[in-house]
Amino acid sequence: MGILEGKRGLILGLANDKSIAWGIAQACHREGAELGFNFLGEQLERRVRPLAKKVNSRFIEALDVSDDAQLDAFFDKVKEQWGELDFMVHSIAFANKDALRNPFSTTSREDFRLALDISAYSFIACAQRAAPMMKAGGSMVTMTYLGAERVIPGYNVMGVAKAALEASTRYLAQDLGKQGIRVNALSAGPIRTLAASAVGDFRKLMEKSARGSMLGRNVSQNEVGNTTAYLLSDLASGVSGEVHYVDAGFHVGSGDPGIE
Ligand code: NAD
Repeated sequence: MGILEGKRGLILGLANDKSIAWGIAQACHREGAELGFNFLGEQLERRVRPLAKKVNSRFIEALDVSDDAQLDAFFDKVKEQWGELDFMVHSIAFANKDALRNPFSTTSREDFRLALDISAYSFIACAQRAAPMMKAGGSMVTMTYLGAERVIPGYNVMGVAKAALEASTRYLAQDLGKQGIRVNALSAGPIRTLAASAVGDFRKLMEKSARGSMLGRNVSQNEVGNTTAYLLSDLASGVSGEVHYVDAGFHVGSGDPGIE
């Protein structure tokens, strides 16, 4: 029997088969969960629907998390179709490319607002709509990165957004813990995805992360998926407000990749 047998959950942020959300979807499906997905726009709908079918999903709806009306409509549909919810994964981020390429000190007010709104506030917006459906308690997980606490060249305003996301995780854990809902963040090492391609010199970042990690390599979307499935399951029933690293141990190192 899988560790998510009998549970229903949303995986928000699937774009294609390279997405971290796809690694999570495959792990959750394997562990017995029934899954629901969103997509952002028609172009991604064409990619998301066939993937969602592969994991037997019957809930696939449009959702742009920057729009409150769409958030209300999406979660109303979840309520209509499922009534109750056991878990939610938030795997969504966005920043303007210029804000990642130009020096951090030149970040505009609008680029700051956009990055923080979509990459951090949207977790709160989704959590406040999902929580009332988690009548028997539940689990929420969001995706973060080390750039929240250390300066990672090229991560810029996204680092500030991830810092806000990690702090939001702790405050949500406090509020929602009263309803038996656990809220955690998973800090993944670099993985080549659509979102990652916006980060300047991502290839160098991947090389440095592999060399500086304890395992001497990078992590896969499946490894992130497996750990997320654990955090969503009752095996993690005592874990909340945590930032859990899945980065092959890079964050405990000196950051110095050493001499080859
Ligand atoms: P991805 O491009 O596959 O996923 C990002 C998702 O965000 C996409 O599905 C996109 O549609 C969605 N999104 C963007 N704006 C949205 C909006 N307004 N409304 C709804 N959805 C929106 O890339 P990914 O790397 O799988 O990213 C998933 C999460 O993992 C992000 O939070 C990212 O910061 C985080 N993360 C990624 C890495 C990495 O190296 N890839 C490392 C650590 C954390």
